[in-house]
Amino acid sequence: MAIKTRFAPSPTGYLHVGGARTALFSWLYARQHQGQFVLRIEDTDRERSTEASVNAILEGMEWLGLTYDEGPYYQTQRFERYKEVIQQLLDQGDAYYCYCSKDELETLRAEQMSRKEKPRYDGRCRHGSNVKHDVRPVIRFKNPTEGAVVITDCVKGDITINNSELDDLIIARGDGSPTYNLTVVIDDWDMGINYVIRGDDHINNTPRQINILKALNVEPPRYAHLPMILGDDGSRLSKRHGAVSVMQYREDGFLPQALLNYLVRLGWSHGDQEIFSIAEMIEHFDLASVNVSASAFNTEKLLWLNHQYIMTAEPAAVTPHLQWHLDNQGINTEAGPAVEAVVVALRERSKTLKEMAAASRYFYQDFESYDEKAAKKNFKGEAALVLQKLLVQFTALVKWDGEALHQIVLETAQAMDLKLGKVAQPLRVAISGQAATPAIDVTLTLLGRSKTLARIQRAIDYISR
Ligand code: GLU
Repeated sequence: MAIKTRFAPSPTGYLHVGGARTALFSWLYARQHQGQFVLRIEDTDRERSTEASVNAILEGMEWLGLTYDEGPYYQTQRFERYKEVIQQLLDQGDAYYCYCSKDELETLRAEQMSRKEKPRYDGRCRHGSNVKHDVRPVIRFKNPTEGAVVITDCVKGDITINNSELDDLIIARGDGSPTYNLTVVIDDWDMGINYVIRGDDHINNTPRQINILKALNVEPPRYAHLPMILGDDGSRLSKRHGAVSVMQYREDGFLPQALLNYLVRLGWSHGDQEIFSIAEMIEHFDLASVNVSASAFNTEKLLWLNHQYIMTAEPAAVTPHLQWHLDNQGINTEAGPAVEAVVVALRERSKTLKEMAAASRYFYQDFESYDEKAAKKNFKGEAALVLQKLLVQFTALVKWDGEALHQIVLETAQAMDLKLGKVAQPLRVAISGQAATPAIDVTLTLLGRSKTLARIQRAIDYISR
């Protein structure tokens, strides 16, 4: 049997890391089995669903590279089908109209609470004796009253729930619109989904969904309920913990591969391996090794992974991502070094691409002012003379070559009987405005002749002003 999984987000916000991990696990499982992965937008809640959120989800999936074989399907385009199945359930006696008003249900609830019972609908409309002509009824599913439901869960093992604990859930609202538990069942059935991988916040819905499937004579899928993701402080991950939107991680300078690698390890492990290529994730992923308990998000570890990826990925693969950040920071890269060369020069010292873009600004643009501390420390003593000498020799250099430039710096230090730092540091501040840059030969090469000469002159003028 070909494996078919799906990711079924409700478009009521951005794609958050919890959703992205669910999508990743579903995607990996399908890819590993040469199966199919479906994207389905669960937008039946019209008040909370927005187009902006749909776009954010699609954008997030694309940025992460979680490609889908079918979809996006939209539940709002499938209302006819839901109506048809609701009618079928009514016709076969597995669903009924419920005329209970809000007040009536509130009173029922209060009575149950006062008797210390679990509040639940008591099925008073089940037998059709409560018809009210001035009320638009909801439709409820007639849950079996006897027996039990068994969830075969690939993560948590078998879970048994007695039907006596479940009440008759609403499958269509008063306006006729179907509810989540019904639409999800019909969609998974129609779309041939045989593995439902989702957050364990849905686990209470699962027995209800299995009962609906049984009423429709449909074999339920296998389930895998993934434990929640917690923040560093042990509470459920939320905005309070900083970035939770996948696209915010892009803004913050993370590589999608690093985020995927981080997410795959969040609640799953393969020995003590930390770094996985996409191919390795697909090869080794399995539902049986998903943790049963919740996992805590650790931003430090994600940063560490991001740095590993920045350092070890093919520079050409990092280049478009850095370019995105350069554009985002308004840095025009037309006049300046190749972005790929900047990646190579800065990758050891940048934990994020946002940092890398900021650190490479001076290659493309003149800086406004010198870092105050750096200028104070390095533009003194013989600095002006050092820069003057460098300027003369750099100007005379026929070929702008890292090795030759480096040689000039060394020889100038020797000739003036200065430590290398007394030459290299004023030069660094002169050309970059700051005290820290990549190796001086690399920096000079990337910066190029005309910017270097102009900036040395500018520093000489600044010192002797
Ligand atoms: N639409 C549901 C949600 O976003 C997910 C439904 C499911 O995976 O079954 O929480």
